[in-house]
Amino acid sequence: MGLDKSNAVKVTNGDFNTISNLLNEGKTVLAALELGPKVQESLKKGKMSDDFALIELKEKKEHAGTCACGKDANVLVYLWR
Ligand SMILES: [Zn+2]
Repeated sequence: MGLDKSNAVKVTNGDFNTISNLLNEGKTVLAALELGPKVQESLKKGKMSDDFALIELKEKKEHAGTCACGKDANVLVYLWR
């Protein structure tokens, strides 16, 4: 179904079960993450590790939400499958 920025569903609480379900439904998710080495690597490749989803940076934004690891999120990214 691909990247659909205009209909992206925003999930900023780090709930990757919800995110995964939305991705399975073919939705694009706008997710909040903390920009650590792993996320930087994913953004460089355009793909998350273990093929969870494709990824593209929307913007850097302080206090964008909570990352899956519980840290304060500082980027918003598009995720899709
Ligand atoms: Zn994290």
